[in-house]
Amino acid sequence: MKAIVIRKPGQMILEDKKRPEPPAGFVRVRVKAAAICATDLEVLDGNIAASYPITPGHEWSGVVDAAGSEEDCAWVGKRVIGSNDVVCLKCDACRRGEWRYCSDFEEIGFKRDGAYAEYMIVPSYGLCELPDNVSFVHGALCEPLGVALGTLEKAGAKFGDTLAIIGAGSIGLCMLAAAGAMGMRNIVVAATTEKRLGIARQMGASHTIATEKYDLVEEMRKIHPGGTDVVIDATGIESCIQQSLKLPKKGGVVALAGYGRGKMMHICVDDIHLNNLRVIGAGNNWNQHKKAVALMAEGLVNIENFATNRIRLEKFETGMALARKRPEGFVKAVFVHE
Ligand SMILES: [Zn+2]
Ligand SMILES: [Zn+2]
Repeated sequence: MKAIVIRKPGQMILEDKKRPEPPAGFVRVRVKAAAICATDLEVLDGNIAASYPITPGHEWSGVVDAAGSEEDCAWVGKRVIGSNDVVCLKCDACRRGEWRYCSDFEEIGFKRDGAYAEYMIVPSYGLCELPDNVSFVHGALCEPLGVALGTLEKAGAKFGDTLAIIGAGSIGLCMLAAAGAMGMRNIVVAATTEKRLGIARQMGASHTIATEKYDLVEEMRKIHPGGTDVVIDATGIESCIQQSLKLPKKGGVVALAGYGRGKMMHICVDDIHLNNLRVIGAGNNWNQHKKAVALMAEGLVNIENFATNRIRLEKFETGMALARKRPEGFVKAVFVHE
């Protein structure tokens, strides 16, 4: 089978590999769509923990074509998406349903081979059926949508709450889609340039702020006087995080949903201390696939225009370059297989 392999940081190639066989408890999925995530660039650049050589890709959909054990045979032929969490299902964290905290946790696309290939191996306990009215491409987007749902849930966001999202990357835009569906209001999206703010407005953002032209904190005081209920940093950038802590109402929440690349950062602790802020880390989707797919199937979350570029696996260099440069109008590149 064809698979993209990052042999070591900086070296990405298309390889002909042996088609993997699923062990017991796992199934083999014939990949139909695999979206390129900014995190995959971090794997390519060696900025995030990964086991090289690795086939990246954690935003995927496909059809199950083989099962590792008898009890999973019912999955064969089904359209699916699924969790990337490979866990023991036995430890205390697993018993609480907190797979990400499993002592044996391994993530597909980072520690185990992922979706930039014709076939991939995934655990059957994380599978979720993809309804016929959700395309494979949209199915692959259930993963980042799930990150948004998980973040809003962890932040305690409620119907009628105000929201500010810093960053208009695909995670920022997924947050916007999810927040709109759950009835948050007066939603502001801020980004350095206007480049993606038009998309945010199309998707229903009440206000957008291009921070190269306007001061975020000042503008936000006009839009949400008294402060914002929930603030999400979807950038992982120091100056954005510093500003995010100045936006919430007293007792409000800041969710840090951007990867900081191991950087040490300065923040004003008193922003948190004096205003009794709750600051949470939000780096993954906490098993929200089922909810994400249901919202999409029922047409409640519209991220239809996210897959701006559909490309074949052979054109991986084009895909990665697009994800890195993010030209005007680009949101996500998705590898598609016939
Ligand atoms: Zn991702
Ligand atoms: Zn466990």
